[in-house]
Amino acid sequence: DTNRFRQQYQIHRQLGKGHFATVYLCVEGSTGKQFAAKVFEKRPGDSQKSQADALQQEVALLKSVNHPNLLCLKDTFDENDGAYLILELAPEGELFNLIVTKQKLSESETRHLFRQLFEGLKYLHERGIVHRDIKPENILLADKKMTVKLGDFGLAKIIGEDSFTTTLCCTRDSAGYSSATIHESCRRLVPGGGSLYLPLWLPPFSDELYTRDNPLTLAQQIKMGKFDYPSPYWDSVGDPALDLIDRMLVVDVEKRITVDECLEHPWMTEKYPSVTDSTDGLTGALGNLDFSKRKIKRERTLLSSVNDVHFSEHVEGSEAPVKVFHKNNADQRVHNRPAKANAREPSPGNQGSPKG
Ligand code: ATP
Repeated sequence: DTNRFRQQYQIHRQLGKGHFATVYLCVEGSTGKQFAAKVFEKRPGDSQKSQADALQQEVALLKSVNHPNLLCLKDTFDENDGAYLILELAPEGELFNLIVTKQKLSESETRHLFRQLFEGLKYLHERGIVHRDIKPENILLADKKMTVKLGDFGLAKIIGEDSFTTTLCCTRDSAGYSSATIHESCRRLVPGGGSLYLPLWLPPFSDELYTRDNPLTLAQQIKMGKFDYPSPYWDSVGDPALDLIDRMLVVDVEKRITVDECLEHPWMTEKYPSVTDSTDGLTGALGNLDFSKRKIKRERTLLSSVNDVHFSEHVEGSEAPVKVFHKNNADQRVHNRPAKANAREPSPGNQGSPKG
């Protein structure tokens, strides 16, 4: 066997699947250590061009990064049956799955996760790399302490100081979490405002909001920055958190908060500790909701090393306990953004205040 990868590694189970690649748990023979093997399969007759481009870009980027909150690349193999990237393993899988399992995270859990995410992004931005596809599926977890590993640099791009990316380049999956201009410019704007919104509640923008009374498509909601914090679900979340989300989801890139400002924001620095920091209030409220099934278009496998639970979510109407919008409340969410969210001045001097 001339396959160098197979001589050195043993493939175990599948961890996930993206548009271009399948990711497997693998074990290095010489050390017994576990890694993730991202495999770009070569199929005869396929147009290899776009795949090869995506791969080359990802390899170059991954080779250049080394940060505790970014998925690092150990090795690469170019074999007859495919190209293999050996990545650090994130055994606890996607943040998305944690949110699905727990329904909602507390503010301090969310802060812990997002501080690491911002640190990883800051590192990338300092090197002129923009991620462009921040979503809970690309935020992976290394352990039970919720150590974040930001993954999937497939769409990332290195920008020059003077360049300005103008394409709307989020994937269809990340649209619900985006700002209108999800791309970050050379101002190192921080994406992922919706990813911060999600652990505390649901995606800020959703197809579920499209009703006769509410004829805003997902794209329109995003372009217009239409979202709010419906009561009672957001009542237990403090103003500083809402303020940070507001600032991350500003449509105008010139006015959107930067990653450095995020790290300095009062919610991050805990200058104003949250009045309530539990999910108790919400758990009761959730019980009254008529949850419908959210449509999940991408095939995904839940990875949990402890429970060893697996489920595939690509079927519409699967039994996965995914949080969804309640259609009856949809108009309220789009049109009546609460006064407390609007009342805040968008000046840096007024970055949220303690509740009450
Ligand atoms: P996309 O379609 O978003 O471009 P892709 O083809 O680049 O995806 P990834 O998103 O990198 O593929 O990987 C697909 C899935 O595999 C991830 O969402 C995650 O569940 C899992 N995965 C990827 N890398 C790792 C890792 N290092 N450790 C554990 N799981 C991983």
